Amino acid sequence: MRTPIIAGNWKMNNTIKEAIELIDGIKKNELNEEVEAVVCVPFTAIRDVKEAIKGTKIKLGAQNMHWEESGAFTGEVSPLMLNELEVEYCIVGHSERRQYFSETDETVNKKIKSALAHGIKPIVCVGETLTQREANKAEEVVKNQVVKGFEGISVEDINNIVIAYEPIWAIGTGKTASSDDANAMCAFIRETIGELYGNEKDNIRIQYGGSVKPNNIKELMGKSDIDGALVGGASLKADDFVKLINY
Ligand code: PEP
Repeated sequence: MRTPIIAGNWKMNNTIKEAIELIDGIKKNELNEEVEAVVCVPFTAIRDVKEAIKGTKIKLGAQNMHWEESGAFTGEVSPLMLNELEVEYCIVGHSERRQYFSETDETVNKKIKSALAHGIKPIVCVGETLTQREANKAEEVVKNQVVKGFEGISVEDINNIVIAYEPIWAIGTGKTASSDDANAMCAFIRETIGELYGNEKDNIRIQYGGSVKPNNIKELMGKSDIDGALVGGASLKADDFVKLINY
């Protein structure tokens, strides 16, 4: 069975002080042991959050990484640097990075390979724009992102990858895909993984992301092909994030 995974994407929010307050707020609660909970925090807060989550089941994630280990890449952070901080997960190819920082399927592919080579589990984001959905192109776009993103990734690595289906029009907008539409796309992604990797399709975890909140998590998690959520806004409030983990 696939272990549910709820990951918070803090984006460019929380100073170190605020990060610790948020973790302290989460820690005041019992967390569902059956659910994997991850916080993907800004680079500047990783070291302090690592200390703050010690002794809890919460896992540590980053929001981006470069594929090279070192070099002349001003402003970037390498997988070795994340290894040193014991980062377990890293979001790769979030739509905001694709949109504002020119990430492409090719760079996403390099990052996935590098993350895996360094023992970091990538949370690979895919998803269509509203225009693409309205033009009935959503499946084509998402399939293309998956196929290109996974080029050259071996079947042995599939278990260490999480896919997050995030329709761009649902991120931070308060608009959620209906649970049926979200599930249909997650099932379609699973089918695509099946075409590439056979039975591993049943093992890979696929999250939904896009305005996930305490009031819609249960319905989404009840669906056959949704194994978790990648959460922006609601991961910034301790009570809400706890409710998502304890759905
Ligand atoms: C996200 O940042 O990946 C996201 C889904 O954001 P929100 O939950 O705020 O829509």
